[in-house]
Amino acid sequence: MENNLCCTEGQTFVIRTFDMKEDFEELYWKVCKGEIDKADALFLASHPSYLFCIADELRKAEKGDAVTYVVNRNINFTNICVGDCKFCAFREENGEGYLLSIDMVLSKVEEAVNNGATEICIQGGLHPDLVVADYCGIIERIKSAFDVHIHAYSPMEICHMATNSEMPEPEVLKALKDAGLDSIPGTAAEILDDSVREVICPGKIKTDDWIEIIKTAHRLGIPSTATILYGHIESLEERIDHLFKIRAIQKETGGFTEFVPLKFMRKNNELGRFVTREFTFWESAAVHALARVILHPYCVNVQASWVKLGLTEVQQMLAFGVNDLGGTLMEESISRASGSLAGEYMSPEDFEQLITDAGRRPRRRSTLYELL
Ligand code: SF4
Repeated sequence: MENNLCCTEGQTFVIRTFDMKEDFEELYWKVCKGEIDKADALFLASHPSYLFCIADELRKAEKGDAVTYVVNRNINFTNICVGDCKFCAFREENGEGYLLSIDMVLSKVEEAVNNGATEICIQGGLHPDLVVADYCGIIERIKSAFDVHIHAYSPMEICHMATNSEMPEPEVLKALKDAGLDSIPGTAAEILDDSVREVICPGKIKTDDWIEIIKTAHRLGIPSTATILYGHIESLEERIDHLFKIRAIQKETGGFTEFVPLKFMRKNNELGRFVTREFTFWESAAVHALARVILHPYCVNVQASWVKLGLTEVQQMLAFGVNDLGGTLMEESISRASGSLAGEYMSPEDFEQLITDAGRRPRRRSTLYELL
C-alpha cells in the first residue's frame, strides 16, 4: 500500500511517499478499529514515520482540514496555594500572593465578553481559606451577568474545596453544577502514575482520585478536557499507559471533549533543576501523534498548546494528528511563570492566519466543539 507521509523538517512541510509493509498494514487496521494495545503503541513509537503517517491519516478521516479554536479568557484568580508541585512556578510562597476580588473577576469577564469570548476558564492555587460557597459564588455572579460558558476548577481544586468544606466530592460537583458550572479542565492529571506523582507532585491527588473525580463529573453531565504533562522524568511507557487510562475513561463515559498534551516548562521551578534537557520538536510530535492513534476513535479532538510550544511548533504540530489549537486566553499566568515566551493572547485573526498559512481551514468553535 502506498501512502503519503506529511511531516515537517525545520519549518518546511515535506510530503514523502513510502510503501507500507504488510505488518504495518495489519497494525493500521487495528488502530482504525480502535483495537490497538500497549505493545502496538510502543512498537509505533519506535517507528515514528509510520506513527506520524497513521496519526495524520486518522486526523484527516475524523476532522478533515478544519482546525478549530475557541475565543476564551483565562482567569487565574489566586496564586496563593497550599500545594507543593515541583514543576510549579506560579504559586506564591513568600506571603505576597494575590486573590482577585469578585469585582475584579467580573470586570475581566466583561472585557472578555465584549471582545467576543464565549468561554471563561477559571483556575487558581489551592487557597487555604476558600470553601465551596466561595467557588460557587464566583460562578453565580458571572452567570447572573453574562451569557458565557464557564470552564472552571481542576479535579485537584475540587478535591481541595471538598476537604476545606468537609463535603464529599460528588456533592461539591453537584453544587458547582447548580451554580452554573458548564465544564471542567482536566488538568492536574500530570502523569497518571503514582510513582511519578510522588516525585513531581507529592501532595496532589493520586491517580485513582483524579480518575474518580473526572468520572463523577462526567456522570453528572459535566464534560471535561483531558491532559498530560510530558517531558520531565516520565518514561515512554508511562506516557503510553497514561493515554490508555484516558482511553478507558472515555470508552466508559464519553465525557472528554479533547486531549491536550502539555509540555513541561523547565524555568523557575524545582523540577526544572533536575531535568537537564527540554523535549525536542520530534519528541513532542510523537506525544501528539500517539494521542491521536491511541485515543481513536473514542476522543477525536487532539489539541496542541501554543502557550507551551510557541507559534512555530504549534503550527507544525498540525501535521501530527492535531486538529485544535485551544483558546485565545487573553491572560495566561501559569505557563509564563515557568518560562513560556509565547505571550498572553492570540487574537482570532492571529489564529486564522496561522492555520491558513499551514494550508488548513480555520474554524471557530464553542467549548463543546460546536462550530460557530
Ligand atoms: S500546580 Fe497548582 S496545585 Fe500545584 S503548587 Fe502550583 S498552583 Fe498549587
